Amino acid sequence: SPTTEAATLPGQGMLGVLGGGQLGRMFVHAAQTHGYRVMVLEPDAASPAGAAADAHLRAPYAEPAALSELAAACVAITTEFENVPAEALRMLAARRRVSPPADAVQVCQHRAREKAAFAAAGVPCAPHAVIDSAETAASAALAPLLPGILKTASLGYDGKGQATVMTLADLPAAWQALGGVPCVLEQRLPLRLEISVIVARGADGAVVHLPVQQNLHRGGILAVTQVPAPDVPPALAEQAIALAGRLAQALDYVGVLCVEFFVLQDGRLVANEMAPRPHNSGHYSIDACDVSQFDLQLRALAGLPLVAPRLHSAAVMLNLLGDLWFPQDAADAAPVTPDWAAVLSLPGAHLHLYGKAEARRGRKMGHLTFTAADAGTARANALRAAAVLG
Ligand code: ADP
Ligand code: MG
Repeated sequence: SPTTEAATLPGQGMLGVLGGGQLGRMFVHAAQTHGYRVMVLEPDAASPAGAAADAHLRAPYAEPAALSELAAACVAITTEFENVPAEALRMLAARRRVSPPADAVQVCQHRAREKAAFAAAGVPCAPHAVIDSAETAASAALAPLLPGILKTASLGYDGKGQATVMTLADLPAAWQALGGVPCVLEQRLPLRLEISVIVARGADGAVVHLPVQQNLHRGGILAVTQVPAPDVPPALAEQAIALAGRLAQALDYVGVLCVEFFVLQDGRLVANEMAPRPHNSGHYSIDACDVSQFDLQLRALAGLPLVAPRLHSAAVMLNLLGDLWFPQDAADAAPVTPDWAAVLSLPGAHLHLYGKAEARRGRKMGHLTFTAADAGTARANALRAAAVLG
């Protein structure tokens, strides 16, 4: 089978990526560092990954001719986002080593399937119900889930495709407002904090993990990640790592998997969602770990040894949203480049910009990681940067 093929050694051949976003771009960087060439399949002419890749195949993700060309050119293929058609991955997997597996990607594309996978692996998740018709949206049996959060089953990200629902009477309209598409209604849980765990699993079943990340969201978008997680006791961290590893095993996963967890007020751990790829909350690993999440993605894909990453520095990562380019409130204001020179004068600053042509509010333009020998110093410098950026 393709997964037991010999490794593709560094410096040998071309690797493929489906998707042209920043996650693909950082994979391209990791792969090129190891001497691989990379081909990106992305319909957009201007894309963060396409600009960095050795070759940019400009076509839709599901176009058979493009997939055929990708399979012909590349020895192994990965994806940088979960909404590629699973069929495309299956088509590629018939010819080449592909990770993550199409079945696992298909699970992650759909919140109901994802929650079923949590349950099947014995991983606790929020009480929920599927809403896929006007009848189910009007069901009185949903009362125990309220107040709740209604989420579209597929294609949601950065808090998009979600609505808070307070009463049964509000539910039908909220479901219509989300387009009347299949949704999951989740009980709104009392959160103490949010964490995530990134694991990598090889074709031989070996699993390694990054340290537990503590995440702060603003407006449904990740804003800050801190590692080591300041408010997570070691036993809880161990539990989260074990659950993420169990999920990877249950999905027969190969590649990098991120699991987001809620830590509830009472200290219980509840899985929120998972991503079959590197994750925004793992970007700090480029600068603060000896093996990054993109190195792990590369190693799993190429069949190279997975080694346990070591955190060599405390890290605080700040997401850089397009809003930073618009310090004035005026809606039609021209973008202003943030004062990067001032930011880079701070010790331990690692600036990553994704090469997106145009800054827009809410758009992820880059991230900024502060590393330091101790967490207090990393945090202090991150706070100074936040003050500079306004
Ligand atoms: P996305 O795909 O947009 O990241 P999530 O399901 O992770 O969607 O939800 C985004 C954020 O909304 C979470 O990080 C969390 O802050 C909040 N949230 C989501 N579900 C719940 C819930 N059941 N209870 C409380 N807060 C929630
Ligand atoms: Mg999320």
